[in-house]
Amino acid sequence: MTIPTSPADTTYRSVEQLVRGIQTSDGAGVRLTRVLTQNLQRRLDPFLMLDAFRNDNPDDYIGGFPDHPHRGFETVTYMIAGRMRHHDSAGNEGLLGPGGAQWMTAGSGLIHSELPEQEAGLMEGFQLWVNLPSHDKMISPSYRDIPSEAIPEFTLANGVRVRIIAGVSHGVSGAVQRQTTEPLFLDVHLPSGSSFEQPIAPNHNAFTYTYRGNVSILGTTVPDRHMAIMANDGASSICIEAVEDARLIIVAGKPLNEPIAQYGPFVMNTADEIQQTLRDYRAGVFERSTVKSV
Ligand code: MN
Repeated sequence: MTIPTSPADTTYRSVEQLVRGIQTSDGAGVRLTRVLTQNLQRRLDPFLMLDAFRNDNPDDYIGGFPDHPHRGFETVTYMIAGRMRHHDSAGNEGLLGPGGAQWMTAGSGLIHSELPEQEAGLMEGFQLWVNLPSHDKMISPSYRDIPSEAIPEFTLANGVRVRIIAGVSHGVSGAVQRQTTEPLFLDVHLPSGSSFEQPIAPNHNAFTYTYRGNVSILGTTVPDRHMAIMANDGASSICIEAVEDARLIIVAGKPLNEPIAQYGPFVMNTADEIQQTLRDYRAGVFERSTVKSV
């Protein structure tokens, strides 16, 4: 196994906890694994939720996610396989395909739907929720569709392929950058026997989720379809070693350290703000919102 040469002062985070997630369904009966659940929101601040879906039986995804609202955070959808079409309350629509992403800033609120554009075959991907700082929770909603070919990627000499949805890896800037939460979202494909290092600021929360094969992180085996929460132990990097062909996502970001008040698809800072959100929703405010494609 070749370990890339690193500066002598590089230190590596260990695995604090392995998480399998909970089998559940959401939307109109879409089966999924909720990997980052509400009890981990504080620990993994600024990330609020991670759903992994991987269904080849259309009954498990065909209903999709009909019209529903969001306010106060960002949703990031990353597709591995399959196609989803989205619509929003402002009349925008787009098609999300394999390897593509959508970064949606719900901000002050919108209503949208996410529906499969296929009746058979595999539907696989992730949805990550990234919190917004209190001063941005009521900004105008916007979204960006990022087709697969617009996601920057590189391949290292050891064959490791890295796709950068957000943040920066090995000097390559990803499709999305965010100032306050500084999210890093990588899709990493490792050939058997290879390894990959990613520097991560010691004060950022970080986790991985394997979706093909097992990997090893500082001596801990991380099985397929498990999240590994990386310890906040002051180390400068994480190092993933592939004991077989493997794929995983790496997610990290700067914690907001603000109160989190969640009611379903609304995430604010206080219970009063949630009550106001419900009043606005019932009053039809969300239906009248302008959603910009940026
Ligand atoms: Mn949604």
